[in-house]
Amino acid sequence: MSEPAAAVRLADHTTLRLGGPARRWVRATTERELVDTVRAADEAGEPLLVLGGGSNLVVADDGFPGTVVEVATRGVTADADSPDDLACLGAVTVAAAAGEDWDGLVALAVEKGWVGLEALSGIPGRVGATPIQNVGAYGQEVSQTIARVRTWDRRERTQRTFAAQDCGFGYRTSRFKAEPGRYVVLEVTFLLRQATLGAPVAYAELARALGTEPGGRAPMTDVRDAVLRLRAGKGMVLDTDDHDTWSAGSFFTNPFVEPDAVPEGAPAYPQPDGRVKTSAAWLIEHAGFGKGYGTGRVGLSTKHTLALTNRGDATTEELLAFAREVRDGVRAAYGIELVNEPVLVGCAL
Ligand SMILES: Cc1cc2nc3c(=O)[nH]c(=O)nc-3n(C[C@H](O)[C@H](O)[C@H](O)COP(=O)(O)OP(=O)(O)OC[C@H]3O[C@@H](n4cnc5c(N)ncnc54)[C@H](O)[C@@H]3O)c2cc1C
Repeated sequence: MSEPAAAVRLADHTTLRLGGPARRWVRATTERELVDTVRAADEAGEPLLVLGGGSNLVVADDGFPGTVVEVATRGVTADADSPDDLACLGAVTVAAAAGEDWDGLVALAVEKGWVGLEALSGIPGRVGATPIQNVGAYGQEVSQTIARVRTWDRRERTQRTFAAQDCGFGYRTSRFKAEPGRYVVLEVTFLLRQATLGAPVAYAELARALGTEPGGRAPMTDVRDAVLRLRAGKGMVLDTDDHDTWSAGSFFTNPFVEPDAVPEGAPAYPQPDGRVKTSAAWLIEHAGFGKGYGTGRVGLSTKHTLALTNRGDATTEELLAFAREVRDGVRAAYGIELVNEPVLVGCAL
């Protein structure tokens, strides 16, 4: 349904609660409506913003000078009648509409005994955004379970379906992120196993919380509960009353650097290409920006150095100025350039 723009502010649809008005707003509840809206905007040469839950977005104070289409399509179908070789492994194919709530899908998977999404509990947003930056947490990434992604290709003006191996998945990236705005995700299909124990736990902190070792397994409900507890302790589960969660999650990605560029004492995870992944949170903290840093209307979360938060009534410009201060401070201290994880709309760092 289309609404006059003045009525809709992006701040009311982003977890940072930032962003000015949209010129035009369409809430697309069917796939037909979504594709028709996108196609019409493209044919008219009008700017278009595809919006899910607004949990990975920083939108300019001026708002958006075009159509914002909110992806609100619903529907989950599960097919356990997979080909014989999959059926005997207890596989289930689960297709979810792009507008489905992500954590709702994870909760459903845990309830049904579909293994592979449980460590991704509590991540805000909608299903359609998860392949864009290959959402991940606590040792799981969606790329490990996505079978295919069905999209609307805005350049070719046709539907295109990509098998997982063609999605270009990497750490917080994909072909969809590499070509920003080209593909509108319509549906994501996951290939999950059926069992009561979750996937082997691949994250030491989660393993400790579950009383097991990395590589150990635990009942899926326990994994979900432990992840939600750990996340809540870091302000990484949305809570209207807690300003530490008025964020876009991690504001910077973990940098990949040459081995000799890792500061002494910083976490170092060697990568297959010879580089080393280090911790953005460690760099920020050791460059002098501790938890809760900041005295104005924006600041670091008091629970997690990587989350930049709106303490109430902030503006996007204030947030960006603060992000620059942190980025520049880390560069000055360590010569490492932090890169923002959220998508910036109509603004820049
Ligand atoms: C408290 C908090 C914790 C978080 N924790 C994590 C975490 O642990 N791991 C992690 O990876 N991320 C995390 N995030 C980031 C965010 O939740 C994810 O990136 C999420 O997948 C974004 O979904 P969304 O629907 O809100 O996307 P939006 O913010 O609405 O959009 C993000 C980008 O995706 C595009 N997009 C959205 N839907 C579609 C679609 N259907 N087709 C094409 N493009 C689309 C938008 O245009 C935009 O460019 C966290 C965020 C918050 C606020």
